[in-house]
Amino acid sequence: MTRSFRSLASVLGALVLLALAGCNPDESTTDGGNSDPLASLEQETGQTWTVRWHADVHTPALLAGRTAPIAASPQDAERAGRAFLLKVHALYQMSSPDDELAAAGADTDELGMTHARFTQKKGKLPVWGGDLIVHFDSDGALVQINGRYLPVGDLMLAATKSPDEAAVAAVLDARALRPEVDAAKFDSHVPELLIYPVTPDQLKLAFRVEVEVNDLVQPMLLETFVDATDGAILHRSNLYDTVDGSGVGVFGDRKPLTVALKGKSYLLEDASRGGLKTYSAAGRSTLPGGEVKSTSPLHWDETGDAAGAAVDAHANVAKAWDYYLKVHGRAGWDGKGTGPHATVHFGSQYDNAFFNGKQLVFGDGDGDAFSPLSAALDVVAHEYTHGVTAFTAKLANEGQSGALNEAISDIFGCFVTYGSGNGSDWQVGETIYHPNGRGQAMRDLQRPHATANPATMAEYQDTTDDQGGVHLNSTIVSHAAYLMTEGDGHVAPLGPTAAQKIWYRALTRYLTSRATFLDAADATLRAAHDLGGGEASVRAAWVAVGVLSE
Ligand SMILES: [Zn+2]
Repeated sequence: MTRSFRSLASVLGALVLLALAGCNPDESTTDGGNSDPLASLEQETGQTWTVRWHADVHTPALLAGRTAPIAASPQDAERAGRAFLLKVHALYQMSSPDDELAAAGADTDELGMTHARFTQKKGKLPVWGGDLIVHFDSDGALVQINGRYLPVGDLMLAATKSPDEAAVAAVLDARALRPEVDAAKFDSHVPELLIYPVTPDQLKLAFRVEVEVNDLVQPMLLETFVDATDGAILHRSNLYDTVDGSGVGVFGDRKPLTVALKGKSYLLEDASRGGLKTYSAAGRSTLPGGEVKSTSPLHWDETGDAAGAAVDAHANVAKAWDYYLKVHGRAGWDGKGTGPHATVHFGSQYDNAFFNGKQLVFGDGDGDAFSPLSAALDVVAHEYTHGVTAFTAKLANEGQSGALNEAISDIFGCFVTYGSGNGSDWQVGETIYHPNGRGQAMRDLQRPHATANPATMAEYQDTTDDQGGVHLNSTIVSHAAYLMTEGDGHVAPLGPTAAQKIWYRALTRYLTSRATFLDAADATLRAAHDLGGGEASVRAAWVAVGVLSE
């Protein structure tokens, strides 16, 4: 041991949770009869105005020039935008900006420019795909309008189908698309009535219905447009936009990644896992930091001392998600399919990882004793499990409850990597912690003494350090989990398949926020009973570590 007991303990404060706490542009600048409003605009402003037209709907895609200052304040931008559009409504073939545009927010950016958004409507109904942004320079001059406005004219429409009928039609369409998925796994959201352009010239009254296909293998969120007069499916698309990518991790290994394409950039965002997303703090401490972007789905985070940490985090959080989903049927921390967020490159040479109650955070390590912490699947799974605990038992972070919390994170950190050949089955952190150049466990559930941690209640450390030695004393509990899984002369082995089910059930069904080690013994005994066996091994393991006396 090159590190002192205490400094190791503080390093272990380490794996800590610090708190539970399309259209082709027509290049012409005039469009027949629409040139007059433009000419009068130029005359009025004394400036040149340019227009790029939408080739399909023949309204401006971009109108640029400069007015006198007309927006007195950012709050005034909406009124000024509407007033200007009233002046140029003929260009847009718009009858009334007041009736046909709904304000959708205005804000001033870091350059002092103000951007006012409008969405298109007809009467009370939104027009799908119609929206405009009016831009003002810092002096209040209107300088550009871009977006897409669809001439609707005097469309007279009435829905003859009900929202419920539309939802049924959309679900039936989804079931025909995915006949292998059980009927109970289709959910529709409340349909929205709107005007839908089947083609630029053919506008229809339609219901937009979102249908979730809650399939674990290939989940989908379908957006379906149902004709409000005859119930026909006008269009359907899958909103889960995923791309199969890959990247090179900290240790030079290429890992598969699920990423997204947004505009022209690829992002470390995984819609197939609830929007799981990886950010970078870029060496600072602001969370969540910036999105990790790339021009290629195959190249990520390739420069700097800790290159690849984002790749490892994105891949390892996905593995932790998959473990909980496949083994325990739990999608995300909340069990409702919400994708976790993680930040890498946090701080400077930060030898730590934590869950802050909202997200996972990983330091790059000092490059000497520690590699970037996201490179270790067991460390990532440890932190991920803190998220599961926060949504279930809500174990406190001090004393025995805190040690139990840390133990459960280590136990599942080991179950996630069990048998994968990814480091030792019962050690935590040994793939990224290498003082003196040799890999060393941060905690060892099989041999707690190897890291000077207690193995039994007789060795329990009463301390005020680390919230009552939560990392130190955790090994009494996690060693019990090791014993009941692998067995020894006094304990018959349950094997990992049964043991992980018992621990998951104890965590999610029985443990409470101030649970003690004794409560954990009761919870695992009851969970084993519920699951139909293994109580003798569970009891023997707790006796072996001195939590139970017989
Ligand atoms: Zn922890």
